[in-house]
Amino acid sequence: MSSEELESVRSSETVKAVPVSELPNAQNPLSPKQIAYRDARITGEYDQIWQTVGKCCFCDMRERYIIHEKDGVVLTISLFAYIDGHMLIVPRRHIRGVKEFTPKEWEAVRELMYIAQKIIRKVWGIKGVQFIQKVGATAQSSVNEHIHYHCVPFDAPDLSVWNYRQMKLTPLQNAQKYQDLGDKLTKLAKRFEDKYTGGEGKDHA
Ligand SMILES: [Zn+2]
Repeated sequence: MSSEELESVRSSETVKAVPVSELPNAQNPLSPKQIAYRDARITGEYDQIWQTVGKCCFCDMRERYIIHEKDGVVLTISLFAYIDGHMLIVPRRHIRGVKEFTPKEWEAVRELMYIAQKIIRKVWGIKGVQFIQKVGATAQSSVNEHIHYHCVPFDAPDLSVWNYRQMKLTPLQNAQKYQDLGDKLTKLAKRFEDKYTGGEGKDHA
């Protein structure tokens, strides 16, 4: 992204940059609370904080952390980052799954993914990004009721170690497993199209 492009992102109506005077410096050091947030993922503090929140943190987002907004979807800093520069894409509406996105919101998610990737590269010089959506507690999602996408600058494998399992099936057998669903697949596609496209959040199945 050129500096002009970045400037246009920054100067759009929804950007509320933290004034430089509020950034920590020698005269304005970090408070213990700020340090606790910064280090929460490695101190284990996160689990404690998370369990005592008692409300949906994504319905209660602080404007000062928001980097950009488009059609009711925001690109914001993660308060419990995995790495410096970690952002989240979060709809303002308290919705749980992809099927509840309106086409406009979904288009906004795509645009924010694009911007996130560009500004991570611009600010951190990191070309790799992992976009992660965790679905369900077994996938280690702690805020499961309000959909969000992690935008994680990813420059080295130390950040996450992926463990591969011993496979029981070949790729062909795996394909067969899903293909055997046959009609079910067509029905699911039809159901999605009937219920969740073009509307402003119809009823949930
Ligand atoms: Zn919420």
